[in-house]
Amino acid sequence: MQVMEMLEKLADNPFDHVLRSQLASHYAETGAWEKAHKQITLIKKQRPLSAQELSLFATCLRELGFEDEADLISNSLEVEEELDQDSGEEIEEATVSQIERPSLSIVPSSEEAVVVPIQSEARSRIRFSDIAGLNDVKKTIRMQIIEPFTNPEIFEKFGKKAGGGVLLYGPPGCGKTMIARAIADECHAEFIAIGISDILGIYHGESEQNLNAMFDKARANKPCVMFFDELDALAFARSKSSSVHGRTLVNEFLNQLDGVGRNNDDILFLSASNMPWDVDVAMKRPGRFSRQIFVPPPDLEAKIAILQRKLRNLPVDDFDITALAGKLKLFSGADIDGLIEQAKELVLQYIMETGEERNLTLNDMQLALSGIVPSTEDWLQTAKNLVKYSGSDRSYQAVQLYLKKNGML
Ligand code: ADP
Repeated sequence: MQVMEMLEKLADNPFDHVLRSQLASHYAETGAWEKAHKQITLIKKQRPLSAQELSLFATCLRELGFEDEADLISNSLEVEEELDQDSGEEIEEATVSQIERPSLSIVPSSEEAVVVPIQSEARSRIRFSDIAGLNDVKKTIRMQIIEPFTNPEIFEKFGKKAGGGVLLYGPPGCGKTMIARAIADECHAEFIAIGISDILGIYHGESEQNLNAMFDKARANKPCVMFFDELDALAFARSKSSSVHGRTLVNEFLNQLDGVGRNNDDILFLSASNMPWDVDVAMKRPGRFSRQIFVPPPDLEAKIAILQRKLRNLPVDDFDITALAGKLKLFSGADIDGLIEQAKELVLQYIMETGEERNLTLNDMQLALSGIVPSTEDWLQTAKNLVKYSGSDRSYQAVQLYLKKNGML
């Protein structure tokens, strides 16, 4: 395919990363290093680079005379290879914050679409009904978030204004991300999920620029839900941080949330954190993530519902799901996913070894169960200490109630 044809196709679909990667390789082959660098940078803004793309990125930087930056990437690739881990692993903040951005223009040229439309992800659509249990959380969210967002006039009549963000917090794997996606669905809004890997850049000022680009993208796609996953990593408490880099990012984040000189109407700010105590306090002030909602581990009823849903379309023996759910003390939804995956592997292993097909049985589930430690345990222990020693601080009252109700306090 000719370069012009590739550029035309990319103008139609800026998310065709395979094609963009090919274009970058083509530019590199012809020695157009600056253009190759620009294409790889555009991919990097949308998703983590593959090992091959990272290697090309390093070559571009080296060819353009930025040896140190190239070495840093090559070294991280070598370490990754050694550890046999996925590509895209974060590079230490302290190291990256010292690196100056090469004086290359990474601003997309006009043929490469400045405002990138959001891809519709029909397959990953999540509704409230897909979330098992958490009925109180769902009720609160409907009254405090969805209704004011979709019917602002009614709420305004009663002196209640829509707006302000929400922080969903709790142990990992208990449905915070699912809830955020379901809120976007209920609000008929676009969903932009933002994680630390989308923001953290290796050059000085790059993280702030990435963050600003995300807000611009949201403003160009209203109504929209911006979901900041792992808010503690994106907005780590400045009082606990020794990194100047982290502080400038938090300052920029606060400016963007406050919408100074910009219009944040019709954008709903949601965030999630497993460690809300590490989130900068300024983030929790009115107008920002002032409402905090605790998302607890699933109760017995929710665990039964999760098991039923996830086993529904599998060849499974008839067994007592309620009794099994009763054994899943402190299991998160994600732990239950893991349990089922392991049990499935046992069945497949049996079938591969014997050539004899059989259903998944209670015995498979029990065997898989013996190797799983519930992942909410550590979190609940930390929360218990926090509640115990936080004195009159009522921030985590919902956690306190949960711990008391479950005999943990
Ligand atoms: P979190 O954001 O709290 O870490 P997620 O929302 O990403 O957790 O949930 C991880 C996975 O666990 C989900 O993809 C889902 O399969 C399962 N899960 C967690 N909670 C629930 C729930 N209440 N109902 C159904 N599935 C759940």
